[in-house]
Amino acid sequence: MTELELRESVIDACQRMNLLGINQGNSGNISVRCGKQMLISPSAVPYDRLEPHMIASMPIEGPYGAWQGSHRPSTEWRFHLDIMRARSEVSAIVHSHPTFATVLAIAHRDIEACHYMIAAFGGDNIRCAPYAVFGSEELSALTVDALRDRMGCLLANHGMVVLGETLDKAMWRAVELESIARQYYYALLLGSPHILSAADIEATLSKFSSYGIIDDAEQERGAGRVGD
Ligand SMILES: [Zn+2]
Repeated sequence: MTELELRESVIDACQRMNLLGINQGNSGNISVRCGKQMLISPSAVPYDRLEPHMIASMPIEGPYGAWQGSHRPSTEWRFHLDIMRARSEVSAIVHSHPTFATVLAIAHRDIEACHYMIAAFGGDNIRCAPYAVFGSEELSALTVDALRDRMGCLLANHGMVVLGETLDKAMWRAVELESIARQYYYALLLGSPHILSAADIEATLSKFSSYGIIDDAEQERGAGRVGD
């Protein structure tokens, strides 16, 4: 993908977040890796007014917090940048405030292995990072920690962050995380949810690794927009 195509893909994904019901207003933000730069959605611009030149560019290594572009990067640039620095396998990050993930985050609950698809996030839970004020260094450090060995986490009293090897995979995980959060919420209301064992999740992980995580899940669900 060219840099222009990557910028356009960030705009397209921002607009799709709301259509998919995983974000409200302009509260979410998205970044992608572009060589040695990170491209990130700007602060305080409605998604339907975004143009490619408004996507800010930040060096992943080098001067911390430096940016170029016509608009300031999202106020959450710190955790986007720190994740890109810490996780070389990650090429895209989606952050949003979807309702059910945020409800669980308000309760400071990790999502346990209530559904086998939790393995799409790398293990048998999705952690909830402790609360810290938005945009802060503290929030960034807590987020990177909650994401260790994982491709998604909740942020207490805030929302969620998901990672992808591509932007399509990050968007797929964003929808999946909100779906698992909704299922877990209702299962908790019903009472006594059965939680899968570590061995159950290990078995799912090994099946995903042999068949390809998204292809497998998509075949099973028979729908969706995913690819790489
Ligand atoms: Zn946020």
